Amino acid sequence: MNEFVDMHVHSKFSIDGMSTMEDYCLIAGKTGTRVICFTEHVDFNSAEKNLSIVKDNRKQNFVVDDYFREINRLRKKYGSLTLLSGIEFSEPSLFPEEFALYSSYPFDCITAGIHHCYNSVFPGAGNLSVSKAIYEYYQIMQKTVELGGFQVLAHLDFPKLFFDKWVIDDDVLDMILSTMIDKNILLEVNTSSLNDSCDEPMPSYSVINRYVQLGGNKIVIGSDAHSSDRLSGHFRDVVPRLPNRIQIGYFRERKFIPVLMD
Ligand SMILES: [Zn+2]
Ligand SMILES: [Zn+2]
Repeated sequence: MNEFVDMHVHSKFSIDGMSTMEDYCLIAGKTGTRVICFTEHVDFNSAEKNLSIVKDNRKQNFVVDDYFREINRLRKKYGSLTLLSGIEFSEPSLFPEEFALYSSYPFDCITAGIHHCYNSVFPGAGNLSVSKAIYEYYQIMQKTVELGGFQVLAHLDFPKLFFDKWVIDDDVLDMILSTMIDKNILLEVNTSSLNDSCDEPMPSYSVINRYVQLGGNKIVIGSDAHSSDRLSGHFRDVVPRLPNRIQIGYFRERKFIPVLMD
């Protein structure tokens, strides 16, 4: 049975994507996936290593018209799959004009991700101490969720992959999760960390449980695949470990649609 809904996938329209959209369509059945959202990177941070290659975001692989043309072609060709459009926009609170522009395109789902501190780039803390990096990272995240205008917050504890010790202050975490719940921003459970000798998704199960305690009742799951062999990666391990009360789903035209996955 094709049961999985992968809400975080990068194709070659992302600068670091290695597979075409069609590669994902071809492998979907084998991985038990019936819904795919192509969430291509949109980055404006000058510290972004990919941007240093292209200098100008408009010269990245992500040309919006070409993206929609290809997704529409594949929707006709692979009618049994649900193909959704999306972006993963980095640090929208730092780039409000660019964010407004990209939000105006008819994406099914806008995911926001924090990939950088103000002065540093992950991986590595650069010239920041770990405590300062944590402070800056979550300060940007809090501003991001307060700004809103998107459906999903990606990989809430992403930097844990790059630091030996990465602890989120309980008050800061509660503030971010509560703001998300108030603004109807969904928590993403991102399984890509399980590729990296980490035994927890992003965020960790303790954070997912706290989200539920505070009143969060819906999530999306994403593999963050950059190649088609990672589509719905680790979903079989992670889904049974999620809190019973949580509703998994996807976004179409920015509206949440619940699905059953078991
Ligand atoms: Zn990301
Ligand atoms: Zn991603």
